[in-house]
Amino acid sequence: MNIEIHSLVLQPLGTNSYLIGDRAAGQAILIDPGGDLTAEFAELRPPRILQLAENLALRIELILATHAHWDHVLSSDLIRKETGAPFQAHQLSEPWLQEQPESASRMFGAGLRFPAAAAVDRWLTDGPEEITLGSIQLETRYTPGHAADHLSFVLHSERAVFSGDSLFAGGIGRWDLPGGDQPQLLASIQNQLLTLPDDYRVYPGHGEATSIGHERRSNPFLR
Ligand SMILES: [Zn+2]
Ligand SMILES: [Zn+2]
Repeated sequence: MNIEIHSLVLQPLGTNSYLIGDRAAGQAILIDPGGDLTAEFAELRPPRILQLAENLALRIELILATHAHWDHVLSSDLIRKETGAPFQAHQLSEPWLQEQPESASRMFGAGLRFPAAAAVDRWLTDGPEEITLGSIQLETRYTPGHAADHLSFVLHSERAVFSGDSLFAGGIGRWDLPGGDQPQLLASIQNQLLTLPDDYRVYPGHGEATSIGHERRSNPFLR
């Protein structure tokens, strides 16, 4: 098995974008097609993730969103059109995707124009569902609480989980945004993520990677 995990940190919100690639097959899944804004926040840069994939000789053949907050999907349309890869998101993402240009503009001032999010090729359910691309197999876990449309993706072959904005190293996602709910977030983490073995690596939507065991023992929100 030669599945690799690569990541990029995208600004302005430090959002992690992940490429899961099978180098032998040249195939990759992109998790969270966030946008790269220029330093002046004036425009969307061509996503560096495309350059990274090209450098690694990987074709992005599937695009997934952990949830549809704009910092996680800002480049979805651009990357979908550039690669031809289908875009999949939870069925409750729809209103968020439609609202993306306005919600991003609200944060940065009305003068900035943001692109519409990509059309969704397949809606994901609460699952769990299996998502397969060649030798790459992901299992979805529905993990609401930060957002109602939030999914985490488990890559059992590499003992890894992509936790989006539910579980962070030493923290958990915000629950004060629309659709957020703290008890629900804690239940999602307990029932969907902490049920994984301790050695599973956690690749969150922001910040450093960690492990299930480390968070189980030391995360102050999970005591
Ligand atoms: Zn979020
Ligand atoms: Zn986020």
